[in-house]
Amino acid sequence: MRTQTIDENRRCPKCGLAENQINAGYNRSGTQRCVCKFCRHKYTLNGKTRAYSEEKRRRAIKAYHSGMSGRGVGKLEGIGKGTVYNWIRKNDR
Ligand SMILES: [Zn+2]
Repeated sequence: MRTQTIDENRRCPKCGLAENQINAGYNRSGTQRCVCKFCRHKYTLNGKTRAYSEEKRRRAIKAYHSGMSGRGVGKLEGIGKGTVYNWIRKNDR
C-alpha cells in the first residue's frame, strides 16, 4: 500500500516534482523546510500552508452562491461553516 501522499503545496521549485519531498525540519520562524530527494534542493514551504485546497475553496464558494447555506456547504465539503463564511467574505471583497 502506498502511504505517501502527494501534497501539491510541497513541490520542488527546482525540478518541479511533488513526489519524495521530505521534511528537513523547521527554520527559525517555524516554516516547514523540505528537501527534494531527487535533486537534493532544499527549500521552505510558503509561509502559510493552506489547510484546504484552492479547488475545495472555489467549489464551496460556488455552492454558496448557487443558493446553499454556509452550513450546507460546510457539511457538503466537510469543513466548518466558519471557514466557509471566511472564504466567502474574502472572496466578495
Ligand atoms: Zn527537486
